[in-house]
Parts: sequence; structure tokens; C-alpha cells
Amino acid sequence: MNLQRPNANDATRTANRSRSVVPMSGLCSRCVDGCTGNCEVFKASFRSRELIYPGPFGEITAGGDKDYPVDYSHLNIQGYALGARGLPEGVIGNSDTAVFPSVNTETEYGSELKVKMKVPVFTGALGSTEIARKNWEHFGVGAALSGITLVCGENVCGIDPRLELDSEGRIVSAPEMDRRIEIYRRYYSGYGEMLVQMNVEDTRLGVAEYVNRKHGLETIELK
Ligand code: SF4
Repeated sequence: MNLQRPNANDATRTANRSRSVVPMSGLCSRCVDGCTGNCEVFKASFRSRELIYPGPFGEITAGGDKDYPVDYSHLNIQGYALGARGLPEGVIGNSDTAVFPSVNTETEYGSELKVKMKVPVFTGALGSTEIARKNWEHFGVGAALSGITLVCGENVCGIDPRLELDSEGRIVSAPEMDRRIEIYRRYYSGYGEMLVQMNVEDTRLGVAEYVNRKHGLETIELK
């Protein structure tokens, strides 16, 4: 059983001509001479590497729509009343006091350096893609106001056309990274943080040293 549907996906803007498809290859059961499209094999045969990336580039985010034999949608959690904990001393838990707006969702992470969060949420890594760049303001402001941790993905400095390097190829100035940090900090109120992912290129460029030296960022994620 193939849990994916190879050879046709909206992410690559492709589809099978036929309703009947071979599960292993994704080819139509009848792949006809003279077909006018538009599966991945068909499209790649004359659009070549355009098929590598979901598109239109910079306009979308895309996920892998694979079916899993078991996933969270198969589970139902049937809750029942267990009482109320954590109420202020002397307050008895009942329908008037144990109300959801009073629930404390704060938490923290870190071993020696603790980071407090208002709710235990991290964003996905928003890195060098155009969709991340042009939507950073919304994510940065939203994450700061929500008190969650914002993850800046890899290679943001590497593709910055205004990046300045020293004679050893290390970052002197990275305006796009500066912009992202400044936007996040505009509404930062002590909860969550912005952390920066680093790949091999980021490490060579000295991204960790730069964000720590210039902005005092203390968390990186090595890939
Ligand atoms: S080329 Fe046409 S007929 Fe053949 S698998 Fe692709 S969509 Fe189907």
C-alpha cells in the first residue's frame, strides 16, 4: 500500500489525466501517447527542474500530504471533570471559580538559563524563503505579543543581498537579520524568545557570533 500519491500533487500543480492510477508509480493506468497532461512526469519532461519546488515560489507554504496508518485524527480524548487545582488559597473550586480564562498556561524551558513562555508554543522555522521574509512582521509581532518562541530558520544571512563580510568571510553586517530581531523585540515583554537556526553555511559565516555580539541573542539551533 502506498500511503502517498506519487506523480501528482497540488504543490507542484500537477494532476493525473485518468481517474485510475498505479499506486507505486503514480502513472495513469492508461498512459496514452499524445496526452496533454498534467502529471509530474509529463510536466517535468519539458519544464525540468521547475518541478523540484512547490510553487508559485514565495507565495505559498506546502506540506507533505501523506496518509499515516494512525494519526491524531483517529484519537478522541473524552474528558471528564477531575476537580480544580491551582486555585488561590481559600478559593473553593466550583463552576464560578474554576473558569477557563483563569487557567495559567505559563511554562518555562532551559536548564541553567530559563525562558518563560505564556503558552508552550514554538513557531516552525521561518528562514530564507521569500514567504517567510515578507510575512516576518506578522509572525514576529504575533509571537512577541503571545509570549511564545519564534524560530528564525536557516540561511537568512546567506541570501541577504546587503550582507557584508570581512576578509575571512565572517559577517560584519546582516541587515535582514537585524530587521527580524528588531521587529520581534518591538513587542517583546519577557516571555518566549527569538532563536536562530544555523546550517553549515550559517556556521561558516559566524551567524551565532553575530547575533550574540550585536543583539545579545542567546539561543541557536544547530542543524
Ligand atoms: S503523461 Fe498523461 S496519461 Fe501518462 S501518466 Fe501522465 S497524465 Fe497520465
